[in-house]
Amino acid sequence: MKRIVIKVGTATLYQNEKLSNRIDNLVEFLVELNKKNEVILVSSGAVGAGYTKLKLDKSDVSNKQALASIGQPLLMKEYKIRFEKYNQIVSQVLLTASDFDSRKRTENAKNMIEVLLKNKIIPIINENDAVAIEEIVFGDNDQLSAYTTYYFNADMLVILSDIDGLYDSNPKENKNAKLLKVVNKIDPKLMETPCNPNDKFATGGIVTKLKSAQFLLKKGKKMFLASGFDLTDVKSFLIDGVHKKGTLFQ
Ligand code: ADP
Repeated sequence: MKRIVIKVGTATLYQNEKLSNRIDNLVEFLVELNKKNEVILVSSGAVGAGYTKLKLDKSDVSNKQALASIGQPLLMKEYKIRFEKYNQIVSQVLLTASDFDSRKRTENAKNMIEVLLKNKIIPIINENDAVAIEEIVFGDNDQLSAYTTYYFNADMLVILSDIDGLYDSNPKENKNAKLLKVVNKIDPKLMETPCNPNDKFATGGIVTKLKSAQFLLKKGKKMFLASGFDLTDVKSFLIDGVHKKGTLFQ
């Protein structure tokens, strides 16, 4: 049995300022994955969910925090009604990257996560945006998901994005960009890619994902980057053990 952290970005969950039905496919996949593995979900999307109720100016950080506060229970409700169809219990865990600076707090959180996983519950983690703003300003939970993977002793992090893997240059700008299937070392040139996430609620871009990969590679953990729009590749990799597309950092 493996312990797997799945991180889903705003671009996958939201389309045209509305929740996408991609969340249905995601939930079905997580339930399937949870049968033979321990699964932790790190989900962005609270700001997007809040914006469906109140149109605050998202360029202001306090507004974004307020939107996250409005949206977090709405997003959890969307997950809860879908997981309930499979009799799958989920839980909400709000963390900040700095929680992992404290050994005591990390241990408290890890002990609780162990109880949840032992009982086959899928924890749904998000940044606690009321007190921390790193991920809503910059990162969209990419870093938080890497810390979750390492400190909660998971085997690997899977980042589901709007892109089907890492390319040798930005595929939206370069038609000849090639997908990199296995990456052992991050090319410093790619770390200089301008941050241009696709969805306007998204804040990450490829660089924050590469930073997560770099952190995990140093710690001897794996990371897999694959499409959250079409789950064929991630299912094939995690459920059938066949690596078709998607980038494996190891
Ligand atoms: P998400 O919201 O799913 O986390 P982001 O929009 O933050 O996704 O990041 C993925 C985007 O990064 C891609 O859609 C692509 O436009 C951009 N990108 C830039 N350079 C690369 C690259 N070398 N390989 C893959 N994607 C890249």
